[in-house]
Amino acid sequence: MQFKILLNRVHPVKRFVYEKVQLVEKSGQPNGLGLEVHIRPRRGSRGLCGGCGEPGPGYDRLEERRFAFVPVWGIAVTMIYAMRRINCRGCGKIQVERVPWAEGKRPITRAYECFLATWAKRMSWSEVGSAFWVSWECVFRSVKTVVDYGLAHRDLTGITAIGVDEVAYAKGHRYATLVYQLDGHSRRLLHVVEGRTARSLLTFFRMLKKSGIDARKSIRFVCSDMWKAYLKVIKKKLPDALHILDRYHIVATLNKALDEVRADEARQLKLDGWSILKRSRWLLLRRRENLSGKQRYRLRNILQWDLRTVRAYLLKESLNALWEYKSPTYAGRCLDAWCRQVMRSRLEPMKKVARSLRNHRELILNWFRARKQYNSGVVEGMNALVKLRFRKAFGFRTFDAIEVALYHQLGNLPEPEITHRFC
Ligand SMILES: [Zn+2]
Repeated sequence: MQFKILLNRVHPVKRFVYEKVQLVEKSGQPNGLGLEVHIRPRRGSRGLCGGCGEPGPGYDRLEERRFAFVPVWGIAVTMIYAMRRINCRGCGKIQVERVPWAEGKRPITRAYECFLATWAKRMSWSEVGSAFWVSWECVFRSVKTVVDYGLAHRDLTGITAIGVDEVAYAKGHRYATLVYQLDGHSRRLLHVVEGRTARSLLTFFRMLKKSGIDARKSIRFVCSDMWKAYLKVIKKKLPDALHILDRYHIVATLNKALDEVRADEARQLKLDGWSILKRSRWLLLRRRENLSGKQRYRLRNILQWDLRTVRAYLLKESLNALWEYKSPTYAGRCLDAWCRQVMRSRLEPMKKVARSLRNHRELILNWFRARKQYNSGVVEGMNALVKLRFRKAFGFRTFDAIEVALYHQLGNLPEPEITHRFC
């Protein structure tokens, strides 16, 4: 069987024909071999203008160009074609033709880009690069092509619940704003942008508007943390939606305050030659049911002492009862009582949290008002997933790469249609 028959089956090119296939010895190629596939236009077919896509009379031909294709048996496959130039009447000038297997000036076929991007979902970009003898940049560009296609073709109708979140990266010196869809039928990342200012979040609403979506009509629930810039934008852009301060974010803020108290006290105790709080961080932050027997024993040991950390820990734990309430009214009373207690505690980081919970009382109680329609575990799930991807993406040099990686992994984007699944 000829290689050409296979090619026509897995990768047919309309208006063109595979002319000949050659096996060449090449030192720069993997295994020292390369397959070169020459392409020519089908007889009588006119080239399509690269500008407007209309067929037009030929003008001349450019030098041969090479397009990388999916390798077989560890042999690099290259398609070779000399592009025609079209004297396009519609555009009023001479244009290079459009070919079905590659985009613009890219030296790689669409099929190969999809192939690399599919692998890049399963393993790291550098692993994909070394598995297929391509550069990291090539993998990045391939994923970006697929992501760009997905973003241009995704369906943004029917979004009723969103979550807004910030993530720190680059050792906590920089922030990104993330918006997810939290609907039961579709949970995905909708938007990533650098920074965590009001302007960052506004880009999300601008994007929706550009896609013809009326955010105010469509979105019924918004869930966020207590970051002021977000609160302001949400109030302005979604005045009719129920804004919820999610349990997950409140617990995270409390944990942060507790950790501040602990770090401070541990430092002082160390100066006095005490090590009771040494390596206690995760014991105190993790949920008690997730601790091992030995860890529980250590925690119990710590809790015997009269420490500021212990008092902060007990305050944090006592707020757990809040989430059991069904009625917003009773939950409100519980929250008020908790805040009063904390305000008397003389633990400054905890008091700061209590103050801000007081300020956002109504938004917190919205959690109880919405709990039937909206599942708050989703926020935590998405957040954990993003943090995981982010850690993986840390090695990326630019925000561009982080952005592309996150959309690729979490955006649930439609993929370009290809005739054959190569992997
Ligand atoms: Zn044209």
